[in-house]
Amino acid sequence: MTEKIPQHRHCAECNRAFVGEGRYCSPDCGTTSIANLKRRKRQLIILYAVSVIVLIAALVVVNS
Ligand SMILES: [Zn+2]
Repeated sequence: MTEKIPQHRHCAECNRAFVGEGRYCSPDCGTTSIANLKRRKRQLIILYAVSVIVLIAALVVVNS
């Protein structure tokens, strides 16, 4: 059972199928995706910072 679908893309944000150019079905999805990307990047930086702090704290405890 193969459905015949015309040439289409899937939106990188909402994953909806759409016909057209670009990675997103609408400019709104592009904006949302960029906002999510920025938030994820910030979360990654926070996670990294926390890991470093925990590592330093562990080293201080071991050395004292
Ligand atoms: Zn979309």
